[in-house]
Amino acid sequence: MSNKKRSNEIIYSFKCPSCQEGLIDIVKSIYNLPDGDKMLILKFECNTCNFHKNDVIPLTTNIEPGIITLQILDENDLKSKIYRSPAGKLEIPELELIVEPGPRADFYYTNIQGILFRFENAVSIYRNNLEENDPERSKIDALMFNLRQAIDGKFKFTLKITDLQGGSYIIPQDKSKYSFEKIEKKDLE
Ligand SMILES: [Zn+2]
Repeated sequence: MSNKKRSNEIIYSFKCPSCQEGLIDIVKSIYNLPDGDKMLILKFECNTCNFHKNDVIPLTTNIEPGIITLQILDENDLKSKIYRSPAGKLEIPELELIVEPGPRADFYYTNIQGILFRFENAVSIYRNNLEENDPERSKIDALMFNLRQAIDGKFKFTLKITDLQGGSYIIPQDKSKYSFEKIEKKDLE
């Protein structure tokens, strides 16, 4: 990733709203994406506590609609960065997990492991709301087990983003596991 980093510039600093002690630097970085596009990342990080946040702004809008697929085979692949735009549908077919397009998580920027943590959290909340004797529990437990294996890099899976508007990205650690299938605009009409 560092070789793709263009600039890394502190643009503003302010007192941390979380711990009231540390100083937060807003760091601006511009990344060149594998397809030639650029992306601006604003990173907020406190130098004292754990408070941090990322915001991502695509700098070009010529990203084509299509289906992005990444095979996750080992721990290294889990570090691949991902940005799902509100128009993107995110799926892990092997685990039957889906995030439908929607404005709910506009700047859904994280890495693959971050996506798995979000799923694990959501599934865990769902499980805790089931009755003790609900037969669905064992199915959910199996899913939780597989998710945990995936987080540890021990479960191979596919991450797929279908984006009919364009704007979602995956920045793969290993390009050979990445594929992009363009959807022609005329197919969408
Ligand atoms: Zn702080």
